[in-house]
Amino acid sequence: MSFAELGLVPELSRAVADKGYVTPTPIQRGAIPAVLAGRDVLAGAQTGTGKTAAFVLPILQRLGAATGNAPRALVLTPTRELAAQVAESVRTYGHYLNLRSTVIFGGVSEKPQIEALRRGCDVLVATPGRLLDLAQQGVLELGAVRTLVLDEADRMLDMGFIHAIRQILKRLPPVRQNLMFSATYSDDIRTLAARLLRDPLAVEVAPRNATADRVEQHVYRVPKEDKRHLLAHLISSGNWHQVLVFTRTKHGANRLTQQLEGAGIRAAAIHGNKSQGARTRALSDFKGNSITALVATEVAARGLDIKELPHVVNFELPNVPEDYVHRIGRTARAGGAGCAVSLVSPDEAPLLRDIEKVLGRTLPVAATPDYPIAAGGAPAQPTPGAGARRPHAAPAARHGARRPQSYRAAPRRSVSRPRRGV
Ligand code: AMP
Repeated sequence: MSFAELGLVPELSRAVADKGYVTPTPIQRGAIPAVLAGRDVLAGAQTGTGKTAAFVLPILQRLGAATGNAPRALVLTPTRELAAQVAESVRTYGHYLNLRSTVIFGGVSEKPQIEALRRGCDVLVATPGRLLDLAQQGVLELGAVRTLVLDEADRMLDMGFIHAIRQILKRLPPVRQNLMFSATYSDDIRTLAARLLRDPLAVEVAPRNATADRVEQHVYRVPKEDKRHLLAHLISSGNWHQVLVFTRTKHGANRLTQQLEGAGIRAAAIHGNKSQGARTRALSDFKGNSITALVATEVAARGLDIKELPHVVNFELPNVPEDYVHRIGRTARAGGAGCAVSLVSPDEAPLLRDIEKVLGRTLPVAATPDYPIAAGGAPAQPTPGAGARRPHAAPAARHGARRPQSYRAAPRRSVSRPRRGV
């Protein structure tokens, strides 16, 4: 089936052809005709399924000609990164149409956003907080919105945006088309959907586990304090050139970034405490291959669209099992292959069991390779395993010449050994 067969006008089919898409993904096949017909849609789909095009394409078509006044389509996203990416998709897919789009999110100056709104906009992509701010200041008129999209609605609720969303809904015309995308269905999501959607078409395409099934996944069992050494070794010995690493906390992301740097691996952290500039720079360095490891917290990594990401590492397992599926969905995107590795310490065994319950299968445990232990975390003391970049450092450690104890045996055994002061 082609995009034209879904009912898309030639301008849009041409734009997707320019992107190299040949066939619509399942979510696109399910959602596009319904959205074109004006229906409300509740879609179960996560990043990586082609969900953005599934709502952007038909919305652009329904908007028709630009009016250049107040926004007629509003897309709410949980994070600025996702907002920026959706806005980029709007521009790309709308290349042959004459529509205006604007993106607004917090963490940056309001002024250029207010000016952009004044110039007129047909499609507005926004995070809820800043949107509400601007609406309350009276610089944004939402009375013309006729299509509302809640993208990653589950994430927005997790991030505490429900109040802002309710306030925004009050400012929208009561009669409008509503589209809701969510990777998971909690009771809160069901309640919101019941309140928001009129006779919605439910499209459940991205069976969460289908993405998971395409990703080669395995687990290394490793003591907590050794994780960083094993990770440095995996990256160096495997010659990984692009790896997204998930940590549980912002502080953990910063610390691991320093430790990887100390091991000679170019790394950057991306999380909510970083300025927008630092986040954008880290992402573009990562995409441009000038850094090898991007260390991210769950929330910051949402919506990052990194093409053909070959490796994802769970440095710590997520507390919410569904987040595991989200994380590994960063690899094997839109049909590609990928590899997801989880470093699991003994205290994380219950989290692993929960994840396996959601996946409906156990994850294979790979034999842990011997990995060198760096003497410390300081940048001055590189992990010998970073031998690819420090060829002189590796042989000494490998042969144990200077630090015979620098290799650990299989971590299962080392669990019972006293902790090192690292
Ligand atoms: P999304 O789920 O919207 O984040 O999209 C995931 C990735 O799939 C993006 O990089 C899109 O550019 C890409 N994509 C979307 N639709 C298609 C398609 N029909 N064929 C191939 N790639 C696609």
